[in-house]
Amino acid sequence: MDKSAFLDLTYGMYLLGSKKDGKPVGCIANTVVQVNHDPAILTLSVNHDNYTCAAIKESGLVAVSILAQGSDMDLVQTFGFKSSRDTDKFAGDREWLFTADDLPVPAEGICGWLECKIIDSIELPSATLFVVEVFEAERLDGRISPMSYAYYQMAMKGGVPAKAPGHTIPAAEGGPKYVCSVCGYVYDESDGPFEFLPQDWKCPQCGAPKNVFVIK
Ligand code: FE
Repeated sequence: MDKSAFLDLTYGMYLLGSKKDGKPVGCIANTVVQVNHDPAILTLSVNHDNYTCAAIKESGLVAVSILAQGSDMDLVQTFGFKSSRDTDKFAGDREWLFTADDLPVPAEGICGWLECKIIDSIELPSATLFVVEVFEAERLDGRISPMSYAYYQMAMKGGVPAKAPGHTIPAAEGGPKYVCSVCGYVYDESDGPFEFLPQDWKCPQCGAPKNVFVIK
C-alpha cells in the first residue's frame, strides 16, 4: 500500500468545543464532514484518548468552530497538542464566546460555528465517529477564508500529532521533511519539531527565513 496516496485527501481545520463537569473543553479536529443536507447532519471523529471525546459523549453536544486562515498557531498548538486532563486550555488572554448551551467558541480566528447534538456514534479502533445534527449556526462578519489542513501544514508549517487521522507518515517511514527551498537543507529536528521553531528561526546553512521551507 502506497501510504502517500493519503496525503491527497483534503480536510478542514476545526476546534471542537464541549463541556465536562461544568467546564469548557476542546480539541482540534480535521475530520468534520457534512453528510446530509436536510436536516444538516455532520460526521466527526475524535480519538478515544482525547478528553474532549468523553465530554462530547457525556454532554451529547459539540460546537464545531471553523478555523480561519488568520487563526493563530498558538490556538492550534494549545488545543491540538495538549490535553485538558493536565492543561487548562482556556487559561490566558484569549477571548471566548459561549453558545446558549455553554459550549466554547473562539471569539476570533474563525469563519463561523455550528452547534450540534449527537444522534449516533460508532466506535472505531482508535476513535469515536460521531453523527451529529446541527441545530444552531452562525457565520461571522469580516471572516476570511477557512483554514484547510493543507494550508495549515504547507503555509503555516504546522505539525500533526501522531494520533491524528490522515497525513501521519513519520519521517522515519518516508513521511514529510522540512526542506529549505533556497539551499536544499533538510531540517534534522535538532532544535525540536519544525512547527515549534520561533518565527525568526533561520536556515542554519544559508540563513533563509523559516517561511521558505517546504514540506517534502
Ligand atoms: Fe537554506
